[in-house]
Amino acid sequence: LVKDRNGNDIQFYSAGMENELSERMSLESKLRLALEREEFILYYQPLINAQSEKVQGFEALIRWKHPSEGMISPARFIPLAEQNGLIIDIGQWALKRACQQLKQWQELGYDDLYVSVNIAPQEFQNPDFVEKVEAILLETGIEPKSLELEITERATMENISYTIESLKELKKIGVKIAIDDFGTGYSSLSYLKEFAINTLKIDQSFIRELTLDDIDNKNAAIAETIITIGHNLDLKVTAEGVERREQLEFLKARGCDVLQGYYFSRPVDEEKAIKLL
Ligand code: C2E
Ligand code: MG
Ligand code: MG
Ligand code: MG
Repeated sequence: LVKDRNGNDIQFYSAGMENELSERMSLESKLRLALEREEFILYYQPLINAQSEKVQGFEALIRWKHPSEGMISPARFIPLAEQNGLIIDIGQWALKRACQQLKQWQELGYDDLYVSVNIAPQEFQNPDFVEKVEAILLETGIEPKSLELEITERATMENISYTIESLKELKKIGVKIAIDDFGTGYSSLSYLKEFAINTLKIDQSFIRELTLDDIDNKNAAIAETIITIGHNLDLKVTAEGVERREQLEFLKARGCDVLQGYYFSRPVDEEKAIKLL
């Protein structure tokens, strides 16, 4: 700690801290530039009807196509975008892009196809959110029932009375709501009866490690229980992270409605996605 000309304390950072800070700052401005330069891209992972094993929709998953670093995973930039508020603009871009893409596919004759879009807690808690969703539906000409919004338990728990109201409004519009990463949040189950939702997405951590060799497998018990809770509440249940045939068989036998995972396909670009139809 040293004094400046006016006698105020100046904090000096260690070289390590300084690097960390400037890296963060530059990533933040890089994210802004990326948005302007349209470096973001959506990949699409099929949502498989468990009964027919056919593609019934796609989850849109963002990537950053960095000019020199190549494809950057959302895990590396979404948390930062959430910290600096850029997630609002990035999320808005993703929602609109996904709806435009769906419109193209529907115009090719895939009328019943839908798209599922991830919504960050900050986006969902933004007072303009419902209006923005309506505006994008109008602008892109997508029917509300063809759009599913994925929100996490974390997003719903931040302000429960607001969440109940927003979900009611979204239901009125006709948009579908899925609770993403279900089973990993810290919320109580009581909200399931208050929230106007359509789908529970069983978190992939329960599915990926689901093996049938082990009769005491706790993941299998949890997955089975979530399917039962969902169905008893008239909700659809999706399993994400399906990587093996035995997991598919297990989930199908227990009536899981929608399956998603590398077993069927990784997230792919729009050209590969259309081929999966
Ligand atoms: P998520 O919404 O839970 O998406 C599922 C993630 O699991 C995706 O990772 C997907 O590629 C991956 N995955 C799917 N099937 C399998 C599988 O069988 N095995 C394994 N190991 N992984 C599988 P991705 O694309 O890296 O996205 C990570 C997270 O980033 C997403 O988790 C979501 O929370 C967030 N995200 C992605 N796109 C957006 C977006 O547009 N907006 C917001 N707010 N968040 C996004
Ligand atoms: Mg998701
Ligand atoms: Mg998930
Ligand atoms: Mg996740």
